[in-house]
Formats: sequence, C-alpha cells, structure tokens
Amino acid sequence: MNSMSKIFLITGGAGFIGSSVIRHIIEHTQHSVINLDKLTYAGNLESLESIENNSRYVFEYMDICNSDQVKSVLDNHQPDIIIHLAAESHVDRSIDGPGEFIHTNITGTYVLLEQSRIYWSNLKSAKKLGFRFHHVSTDEVYGDLGDTNGLFTEDMAYAPSSPYSASKASSDHLVRAWYRTFNLPTLITNCSNNYGPYQFPEKLIPLVILNAIKGKNLPIYGDGKQVRDWLYVDDHAKALLHVAINGEIGETYNIGGYNAIENIEVVRIICSILDDLKPSRLNGVKKYEQLITYVTDRAGHDSRYAIDASKIYDDLGWSPEETFETGIRKTVKWYLDNLLWGENVQDGSYQGQRLGNNKL
Ligand code: NAD
Repeated sequence: MNSMSKIFLITGGAGFIGSSVIRHIIEHTQHSVINLDKLTYAGNLESLESIENNSRYVFEYMDICNSDQVKSVLDNHQPDIIIHLAAESHVDRSIDGPGEFIHTNITGTYVLLEQSRIYWSNLKSAKKLGFRFHHVSTDEVYGDLGDTNGLFTEDMAYAPSSPYSASKASSDHLVRAWYRTFNLPTLITNCSNNYGPYQFPEKLIPLVILNAIKGKNLPIYGDGKQVRDWLYVDDHAKALLHVAINGEIGETYNIGGYNAIENIEVVRIICSILDDLKPSRLNGVKKYEQLITYVTDRAGHDSRYAIDASKIYDDLGWSPEETFETGIRKTVKWYLDNLLWGENVQDGSYQGQRLGNNKL
C-alpha cells in the first residue's frame, strides 16, 4: 500500500449504493476496502463479483448492532475512513414494520459511533488526525416541500414523515452529537433518490422495468404526481468518496442529481425506453404504458423533494455527470442485460447458496 492509499471500512457494502462505492474504489483508486455487511434481504454479494478477488477487498459478514463484532473489525483492520451506509432503507417496509428500522438505523449507528470513538481515541498521531467517519443519509429527513418552489438546504430544520426518515433523522442527530460532544471527526451527506444498476427490485425504477417485461401491472401510488430528485448511483459513489476524503469535518453536504421529476413521468420514460429496446410481444400490450395501474397512496406520502446541491459544488467542486436521460437509459439496458441478477435477488437464491450455514 503506498502512503496516499487509505483503508476504507464500508458498512452496507453489499447493498445498492455501498456496492457501487466499493466497485468504484477498487476499480478506480489504490485504496483498500473492508465491507461490513449483515446480508439482509437487500444485501447481495453478487453485486461485487467483479472485484471480489481483488487483494485490496475483504468481506466481513457482521452486524453493525453487535458491538463486539464492530470492535473486532475496527481492531483487526485499522481503517482510516468509515463510510456508513448500512441501514434498512425501504419506506414501505418501515410502515409495515418499523422495529427493524429503529434497531438498525438508530441503535446500529449508535454502536458504530461509539466503537469508532473508542477506536479513534486510541489511535496514534497521523492516523488519528486523518481519521473520518462519514454517515450517509437521505433528503427525506427534511420532510415534505409540498407545493412550494423551495429546495432542501443543509441548514433546514428536520421534519421527517415516515418511520424510515425519522430513524435516519435520529441517526444524523447522533452523528452530530458525537462530533460536538466527543470531537469525533464526522461528515454527513443527505442525498436524493438513487437509481442505477444493482438496485433491489422493490424500489420504483427496477420494479417498473422488471414488471413491465413480464407483463405485470406497473403500480403508481396516488395520482403519481409526487416529485423526486433522481441521482445516478455511480455519480453518488464518486461524490461520497470525494466528501469522505476532502469534505470539511463537522459539515453536512446535500447531494442531488438536478433531476426533479414526477413519479408518473419517470414510469412513462422507462416505458418508452423499453418500447424502443425491447418492443412488447405481450398479448394485448402494444405499449408498456398500458400496464400502468394507480393504487391507493402510501400513508403519509410526501409530495415533493428537491435538493439544493450548490454547497457540494461550491465547496468541493462536485456535480453529477449523468442527466436523467443518459442515466435511465443505461439503467434500463443494464436490467435487460442482467435479468438473472434480478431473478436471483428477488427469490433470495443467491444469498442462500453463498452463505451456506453461516450464522451471525
Ligand atoms: P440497501 O437497502 O440497498 O442496502 C443496505 C445494506 O445494508 C444491505 O447490504 C444490508 O445487508 C446492509 N445491512 C442492513 N442492516 C445491517 C446491519 N444491521 N449490519 C450490517 N449490514 C446491514 O440500501 P441503499 O439503497 O444502498 O442505501 C444505502 C444508504 O443510503 C442507507 O443508509 C440509506 O438510508 C441511504 N440512502 C439511500 C437512498 C436510495 O435512494 N437508495 C437515498 C438516500 C439515502
């Protein structure tokens, strides 16, 4: 390892965003990565196959809520930078069963912060000075912008609506407290909706793509007019690495894609790309749009999120490379080229075969 390369501990590295961060670090830098992941339904090591044999990559099958396991990973691998992504991340699941969200997102973040504080306090000189704890959060902590023209800025008051966003807001507050009270060198980023390859097919974009080609309904909550800002996952991965290394300690940065679009429009765009790339041969379906079905709106559904990402641009020079048009086309193509990945994660078969009898 040369003197400029660092050891990253990525929590939740088998998930959608974490796996993109790890692939990016291994493929485009000389840094090393320890991936700490419990492999819930959302974690899939198949997303890391392209780099799994790299000597700079190690997987640790562990739970962020278990202090002994977190301590052993920190002591054994001596990371320079932690990027904390492990979480329960699906709003609908948080409505059906909030308990796991409170446990993983709040208690898990607490355990990680506290073990990191102990580990960091015992580090020596340069290693201690360089240490960073980067917490990855969501724009949903800011709540609903409603029918205003406003944008989420970093100094906005928190007003989360769902159990998911409330648990993430709590974790952000804990991170701030560990910075303010214990001087732990922390950073927080709050990003908008991510999309791209390897996203678990319960989220809007992969769900629509995979349902459409099977001729299933494309469910749209309410009137479909909810506005979300869309960030291409590999753009996000680059932003996270940049903030983790170059961000100012104690700061928060919003990360957005400059693509605020209504959900119904997102679905129509996907349908028209599919019409082009894989014209329907389904009975009675000439255009995929015919499969759109409106369903009862999600409880507490926020109507509009939109990010002001000027701080990360002004202070750190980051802006996204993909527009929604380029990113969504790549994404649809990736799902069409990787149908087996989608099937494996949906039925859970890959995890079973990989993990054998391992137990946490
Ligand atoms: P994901 O659900 O795809 O992946 C989460 C990963 O965390 C999985 O690999 C899972 O196995 C792991 N995990 C869960 N509980 C764990 C535990 N107790 N110990 C260890 N590992 C555990 O999530 P994602 O979409 O990649 O999101 C990553 C982070 O980014 C989350 O913190 C989420 O809140 C945040 N975020 C995501 C989005 C988005 O659009 N996906 C937007 C804003 C913020």
